[in-house]
Amino acid sequence: MKPAVFDYSAPESIGEALDLLAEHGSGAKVLAGGQSLVPMLNFRLARPAHLIDVNGVGSLSYISANGALRIGAMTRLTALGESGDVAGAHPVIPAAVAQIGHRAIRNRGTIGGSLAHNDPAAELPAVLMALDAEVTARSADGERVIGMQDLIEDRLFDTTLDDTELLTEIRIPAAAGSSFGFREFARRHGDFALAGVAAVITTDGSTITQAALGAFGGTHATRLPTAEAALVGAEAGDAAFAAAGAGAAADFPATSDVHGTAEYRSHLINVLTVRALKDAAGQAGGGNG
Ligand SMILES: Cc1cc2nc3c(=O)[nH]c(=O)nc-3n(C[C@H](O)[C@H](O)[C@H](O)COP(=O)(O)OP(=O)(O)OC[C@H]3O[C@@H](n4cnc5c(N)ncnc54)[C@H](O)[C@@H]3O)c2cc1C
Repeated sequence: MKPAVFDYSAPESIGEALDLLAEHGSGAKVLAGGQSLVPMLNFRLARPAHLIDVNGVGSLSYISANGALRIGAMTRLTALGESGDVAGAHPVIPAAVAQIGHRAIRNRGTIGGSLAHNDPAAELPAVLMALDAEVTARSADGERVIGMQDLIEDRLFDTTLDDTELLTEIRIPAAAGSSFGFREFARRHGDFALAGVAAVITTDGSTITQAALGAFGGTHATRLPTAEAALVGAEAGDAAFAAAGAGAAADFPATSDVHGTAEYRSHLINVLTVRALKDAAGQAGGGNG
């Protein structure tokens, strides 16, 4: 199918993009990498009257590692996955990016598009939740900073961004001394995962002092508070990891579809959480810088 007719603008600055969003509001859609939006246009699942193509806004593409990691919304997934600064600060990010679709998709797809699209099976919303990231949203009226959990809430293919807001930046605080595990299960490499989990832990000797787990593949990306509570203060080892796996299955908003039942997905989250924690514990002491 072909898209329904739409008007098209290609702003060259953030200010121009914000003016267009203010003018067209809910009738407009931002076009980033187009890897999700263009298929939706072609299937007429999205029928915006106006497309605002921000690919010409160069100031939205950057990675800055001065203190907290700051990433422009139009940073391509390939650039994100290949950045030494990102890998040095948060190696869980390239581990997750490597699992997103195929290279051609990552060459065009953007971090901002992944978050704004908020597919429940997408890796980055859950990973960035585990890293306590925040995003900046700008409109013609000003800007606000939104925590990842508040951006996603329990939404599906939607966020708390207003129609007139442009997601401009992702900010990730430093996590010195932490270690990570990332596990997902997909039927084939490049497919959306049935379930997956990112685990970021900090240890003092063999005691876990901090734990943050973000899961995807359920009804929406989510932190896993019961699993995290089972870990903090515990000795890093099989008993704590098994308790966390069970907690993760209890927390996970599993859902059934043609790819798998809710019970199967809950089982996957349990197993994947234990494996991710074992991976993280294997690095503990090495640290993530
Ligand atoms: C075959 C295939 C396999 C894929 N597999 C995976 C996978 O395994 N994991 C995964 O996570 N993703 C996967 N994707 C999706 C891919 O990662 C997309 O790139 C991503 O979801 C959307 O990013 P985009 O830059 O292409 O955004 P677009 O498609 O351009 O936009 C998506 C939505 O976000 C909005 N938007 C984009 N940028 C902004 C912004 N800065 N501010 C406000 N709104 C904005 C758009 O208006 C639109 O509603 C796959 C895609 C395909 C085609």
